[in-house]
Amino acid sequence: MTTINDFSRYLMPTYKPWGFLPTHGKGVYLWDDSGKDYIDLTGGIAVSTLGHAPDVLIDAFTKQAHKLWHISNYGTCEPAIRLAQMLCEHTFADKVFFSNSGLEANEAALKLARRYAHTHFDATKHTIVAFKNAFHGRSLFTVTAGGTDAYKQGFGPLPGGFVHLDIDCSDEVLAQAINSECCAAIIEPIFGESGVIPVPIKRLKYIRELCTKSHALLIFDEIQTGIGRTGTLFYHQQIDVQPDILTSAKGLGGGLPIGATLTTDAIAQCFMPGVHGSTFGGNPITTAVARTVLEVVNSETTLKNIAQCHQQCADWFTKLNTQFDFFEPMRGVGLLIGWPLKQAWRQHSATLFALAMQHGVLCVPAAGGKVVRMAPSLLITEAEMDEAMGRLQSACAALQVQATTM
Ligand SMILES: *Cc1c(COP(=O)(O)O)cnc(C)c1O
Repeated sequence: MTTINDFSRYLMPTYKPWGFLPTHGKGVYLWDDSGKDYIDLTGGIAVSTLGHAPDVLIDAFTKQAHKLWHISNYGTCEPAIRLAQMLCEHTFADKVFFSNSGLEANEAALKLARRYAHTHFDATKHTIVAFKNAFHGRSLFTVTAGGTDAYKQGFGPLPGGFVHLDIDCSDEVLAQAINSECCAAIIEPIFGESGVIPVPIKRLKYIRELCTKSHALLIFDEIQTGIGRTGTLFYHQQIDVQPDILTSAKGLGGGLPIGATLTTDAIAQCFMPGVHGSTFGGNPITTAVARTVLEVVNSETTLKNIAQCHQQCADWFTKLNTQFDFFEPMRGVGLLIGWPLKQAWRQHSATLFALAMQHGVLCVPAAGGKVVRMAPSLLITEAEMDEAMGRLQSACAALQVQATTM
């Protein structure tokens, strides 16, 4: 029989998974091989948009699985075309490129921006402005775009042409970097991995302005913030700042691997036949399932639920923080939420996550454990949120006992 201990025997040691083996899930619930249940507030890190094994996606998956699994890019398929159409109808975009993951969506975005500059200007316009502590994926190009030095160590030489700025640098520093030699700026409008930190809207507007002035393309990495996560289909739609290229992945497939790079007609023309590609991109099954995800997310009921559950979580936050005083003010939008631990409690971060698990609620660390991040199913109910927060309250109480007896 397979047990959790077989993981380290057969898998490369890139991850340290939870100490239990999840066997099945339904909605916000997850069960392990001993039958214990957990309320999953991680949502597979903003991936399981409609929860685990939702009937509506099982149905979409099964229907497509009986029809067509793969076709290669010598053909195309109806689900891919319809998903692209839907994405275009609900965003600024005119064209979509499909891939299989977030890093691929960003890789395509960065290549497209370089190609656009080479086509319309010249090869000297190649600098990409990116930000410290940002996360854009783990390919050599996207990890270089990202702002975590530790992720780049030991992989050199890295691709060149990047400038990394502090997100709260001065306007002058920004203006100097986004200049005529800059082909693109890439940014997470809410920094996810580094702690659920929304970028001030004024800052995003200024970056937009600078990009327009310098003919640099603005890339919004909405891989974590998109697909309803923040209460609108994409986060930028509620702050009224429009990118030139938008990347999506994570929640788009509701648990299946899919990435999408969205842009305008004029920019898309640079990806002419042969310039870029992907074997599995636009797969019939993943695109059929993603279309159903979009249909469910982009409904008044779901979007209303996201706002209500955010408020409910905020109310619980106030209650728990009055009781325990572990946290700095809550951050995040919609159902992408961060509870940052106060300096004094950061040393207990690992214990808190372990206790939460023990009490049957799963959260995901951000900023290396300094922030308790939640990105549950967008369909989580009021009763489920209460149950999850009750379990978290028990975990916090247990932590307080442990910490004071330590
Ligand atoms: C997760 C994430 C990525 C990378 O996605 P993968 O599917 O793991 O390649 C890129 N950008 C952001 C903002 C993310 O949250």
